[in-house]
Amino acid sequence: MRVIQDLSLLELQDLVSELGEAKFRAQQIYDNINLGKSISSMSNISKSLKEKLLTMFFDFPLEIVTTQESKDGTKKFAYKLADGNIIEGVLMSYKYGHTLCVSTQVGCRMGCKFCASTLNGLARNLTAGEILSQVLVVNSMLGGKLGKHRAITNVVLMGSGEPLDNYDNVVKFLRLVSCEGGINISPRNISVSTCGIVPNIYKLADEGLQVVLTISLHAPNDNLRKTIMPIANKYTIAEILKATKYYFDKTGRRVVFEYALIDGVNNTHDCANELAGLVKGFPTHVNLIPLNEVAERDLKTVTHKKAEQFAEWLKAKGVSVTIRRTIADDIDGACGQLRNKIISNN
Ligand code: SAH
Repeated sequence: MRVIQDLSLLELQDLVSELGEAKFRAQQIYDNINLGKSISSMSNISKSLKEKLLTMFFDFPLEIVTTQESKDGTKKFAYKLADGNIIEGVLMSYKYGHTLCVSTQVGCRMGCKFCASTLNGLARNLTAGEILSQVLVVNSMLGGKLGKHRAITNVVLMGSGEPLDNYDNVVKFLRLVSCEGGINISPRNISVSTCGIVPNIYKLADEGLQVVLTISLHAPNDNLRKTIMPIANKYTIAEILKATKYYFDKTGRRVVFEYALIDGVNNTHDCANELAGLVKGFPTHVNLIPLNEVAERDLKTVTHKKAEQFAEWLKAKGVSVTIRRTIADDIDGACGQLRNKIISNN
């Protein structure tokens, strides 16, 4: 069985002509897909065409099986995929719209020491359509439609998985989700977060997409980074910065660095100075995230005061910095926490 949400309008046109159907059917199917409809609920499609489609494709590739709501209004979803695998997502609602955090893989093989998504390794990549379906199902749940009537305004690829370790599917997803005529979320409102898979940063820069690139740095030097992020054994910070500069030159988009504050590990004054030295003179923004503690990991978060102090040290060196509010830490907000709970309870 395949995922119909993987198909672009052009690919749907090929499909309907193979099936001997009129060309306009492709547009109808495409609209239904982008409205978040399952094949069986596409009311303007003939029964016989739906039956044909259902022999080839899943009716819908995922369903929301759990919703948790945080005190701050953030919602966390667990989605069940057609093969029974569980992934998760987070919906953050603001005055200007809704941001959805999507997963790109079932699990992750990057092995970052602070992250719950990677505890059980990588089960499999998500297809472009499975990533898209997370957006479509939540958009429709919020009453959103297509184009400017969409409810989801921003997407961040910060759920489970390493987007640049599932490169082709992620790029296809970026094209599908930003396609005119579809839900049409502007690439400028989409953030791709990576632990720093250097060759694929260059590739992404050359795709002609204007997405925001977010680098998970988390340490100001390679030795410290290696102790918390295995990918640091493969690519140095210098290589990441070079690729990041290339990304900026190609896209004109300021790159964001994520820095999870782990008490006693990466939050010293020396670390702040070293970090400031790295990003100096470079169009960038540093996002500090107080660690979301993960039960299985022996790493501690910082107090708000310590986070403020670290931000002040950076500001004193002229760094543009914000502290990201800890989102939904009462509802297993950290990547992979909800999924792990569901897997271990089953
Ligand atoms: N693989 C991608 C996306 C991961 S999730 C990446 O590495 O960027 C998005 C961000 O959350 C990353 O910066 C990741 O390092 C961070 N993160 C993961 N677990 C966390 C935790 N327990 N507390 C705070 N941030 C965490």
